[in-house]
Amino acid sequence: MSSSPSALVLGAGIMGLSAAWGLARQGFGVRVVDQDPVPNPRGASVDHHRLIRHAYGAQAGYMRMVDPAYAAWDQVWRDIGGVLHIPTGVLAVSGSAAGWLGESRATLAADGLGFTDLSAAEVAARFPIFTESGIGAAFHMAPGGVLLAERIVAGLARHLAERGVVFERARAASVDPARAALRLADGSERAADLLVVAAGPWAPRLLPGALAPRVVASRQVLVLLEPPAQHREGWARAPMLLDLAEDGGFYAVPPVAGTPLKIGDHRFSRTGDAEVDSRDATPAEAEEILAFARPRLRDMAAYRILGARACYYDVEDAERFVVEPIAPHCLVMSGFSGHGFKFGPVLGLALAAAAADPALLPGLPGWAAGDTPPAAGLLAALESIPA
Ligand SMILES: Cc1cc2nc3c(=O)[nH]c(=O)nc-3n(C[C@H](O)[C@H](O)[C@H](O)COP(=O)(O)OP(=O)(O)OC[C@H]3O[C@@H](n4cnc5c(N)ncnc54)[C@H](O)[C@@H]3O)c2cc1C
Repeated sequence: MSSSPSALVLGAGIMGLSAAWGLARQGFGVRVVDQDPVPNPRGASVDHHRLIRHAYGAQAGYMRMVDPAYAAWDQVWRDIGGVLHIPTGVLAVSGSAAGWLGESRATLAADGLGFTDLSAAEVAARFPIFTESGIGAAFHMAPGGVLLAERIVAGLARHLAERGVVFERARAASVDPARAALRLADGSERAADLLVVAAGPWAPRLLPGALAPRVVASRQVLVLLEPPAQHREGWARAPMLLDLAEDGGFYAVPPVAGTPLKIGDHRFSRTGDAEVDSRDATPAEAEEILAFARPRLRDMAAYRILGARACYYDVEDAERFVVEPIAPHCLVMSGFSGHGFKFGPVLGLALAAAAADPALLPGLPGWAAGDTPPAAGLLAALESIPA
């Protein structure tokens, strides 16, 4: 009787855990190696929350991946025994109807996804926590919400351990894609039938040949706030706020489920090193984000600043994910560019389906990059994946 195939996953952020989850469901014996504790406060996958929404500018491929992503999350909730998604809806605002907001509207409308256009006055009337100043265009969309990221990562890791996935705390000094092997910092080696490298913002330095300069680490700053008493009720039923542009903007994550209100910068810094740099944000870095938010949030001066921190992620120039083979038995998951979390489980299931059935592999990179629809076989595999 042949034994089950083995998989080695480098990285226990949402991508590595999702790959491990998919592979374990496909019958692989899985070992996950990470240098840090899980959840990892240095990783791209935690702090408190990450957003899931259909509004995606002109990127129709990712917009269309959101419903399969929700279906994959439903499987995660079943496995970890709880729903860690808080529906909030989406409010997109912009100074003008052109750019990211206009492209989102057109792309949503082309696929028949419903949203409601709002005037500046309607935004302020419906959501008094926001001002109407400077709003040239806005729309509201009911689907969309907050994924409780840190709790999800912890829950998924717990579930995988219970299911027999082995976790090893160790630093990989180098990767040997051709042999599906990792050389660890203590000189020992781990190898398997399949290696998945999901090293987040560390990946470009670990796999310079395959990823750099296509993917670079990027230091991103976020600020945590407590709304003043008069706006707490408003925030309790607030949508996420997206004020995005091709080259920047900011977003606000409502304070759901005991988490703080978070505002973050959508511009990519494309600087920094995830391994050596501090996660503390300087007052000047925090002020840049606050300056974006100040015109949008009513009574902003009354908000209490709880803290500011930096996070690193791995940016691909056009924000296209890199999920592809770099050797016959080695797959890389990278380039998640500030929007990957929502797609972790669906990408993990797809990668695992392609690992189990090599005929599905050619369709994986283009779909993950948001360029092509999923091949029929991949869709069918996603729907029929064993529990
Ligand atoms: C502030 C911020 C806001 C975001 N907002 C959203 C959002 O609203 N919606 C959304 O969908 N996405 C969002 N994202 C993006 C999303 O969180 C990331 O795309 C995703 O978490 C990347 O996960 P990962 O597993 O690839 O990386 P990570 O979570 O960084 O995991 C990589 C792991 O690899 C380990 N590792 C690396 N090198 C080694 C080594 N040599 N040896 C051992 N271990 C190693 C690290 O320790 C780390 O734990 C946001 C990201 C940030 C930072």
